[in-house]
Amino acid sequence: MAKIVISPSKYIQGNGELNRIKDHVNHLGNSFFVIISKSGMERFGQKIKESFGNEGNLYFEIFNGECSKNEINRLRKILEEKKSDVVIGIGGGKIHDTAKAVAYYEKMPVVIVPTIASTDAPCSALSVLYTDDGMFEEYLLLPKNPDIVLIDNESVANAPARLLVAGMGDALATYFEARASKSSNSKTMAGGYTTEAAMALAKLCYDTLLNEGLKAKLAIEQKVPTKAVENIIEANTYLSGIGFESGGLAAAHAIHNGFTAIEETHNLYHGEKVAFGVLVQLVLENADLDEIEEVLSFCDSIGLPITLEELNIKEVSKEKIMEVAELSCVPGETIHNMPFEVTKEEVYAAILTADALGREYRK
Ligand SMILES: [Zn+2]
Repeated sequence: MAKIVISPSKYIQGNGELNRIKDHVNHLGNSFFVIISKSGMERFGQKIKESFGNEGNLYFEIFNGECSKNEINRLRKILEEKKSDVVIGIGGGKIHDTAKAVAYYEKMPVVIVPTIASTDAPCSALSVLYTDDGMFEEYLLLPKNPDIVLIDNESVANAPARLLVAGMGDALATYFEARASKSSNSKTMAGGYTTEAAMALAKLCYDTLLNEGLKAKLAIEQKVPTKAVENIIEANTYLSGIGFESGGLAAAHAIHNGFTAIEETHNLYHGEKVAFGVLVQLVLENADLDEIEEVLSFCDSIGLPITLEELNIKEVSKEKIMEVAELSCVPGETIHNMPFEVTKEEVYAAILTADALGREYRK
């Protein structure tokens, strides 16, 4: 089998780029269908309309909040009525995934505009589908990556710091999952083996987090886009995006998917749960204590959860944790890309041990 690396056709990141959105997307079509949240509309609606010069070939539809089959079908119906020919998703991960799915079914170009840097979803040829109540359902693999990913640093810098931190949690998994996938010679989401290029980006992603993460978090708390913020936006979005998709996913994301079944974790962001999944993966691998401590100290420095209690799981029961372990090991889950066989009993043990390591660190 071949090695394959995939990426969006164009990645644009800069200060004030949302004001120039029309110039960036105009060549893709004539009529633009924008999926956006209500708060996103309040924050960016006017800016986008002004960029298009109030020409009226722009239709805004408010997102219902979940990337589910029902929501995708609802949006497709409206898009067909409006006769739009380009889909633009403006907002966070669930809006991006929804926009990509709608564009795929309608066979149209798609532009992804992250207004936060909280996941590595924007660049990928992948939509994660959830049920209407927010439980992980399945991955929808798309034949191509977005035509354009456009990020305005200023919008990310004005978002709550917790979102950028969650993005760092998602990006934290990239290197460790790519390393595991490469060592097991697993097929990645790109449909082939891991390239050296994807591995290099995944490693750069991890190094950028360690070097710039805390500086970026402190800057964004002051709502200013410094160089460190710019570098972390790139790490969370581009490096992690290419890194996970063409580098490979493994245990950390599968364990995250298991945690989505636990009601108490629903108010935590994807990346916050993924970060804990990284710790669990490192325990599964029996990684060096130095490496585990490096990850614990990074998570602690920027405020990512390192214990079950910090994942909002106040009462730890065998039943509950076994359910997470079982779900993370279902056939087809990326945990089977680990370089050794993983059972639900081992995941159960690793979750409790990761929690104990986190609590030990907190002492
Ligand atoms: Zn992720």
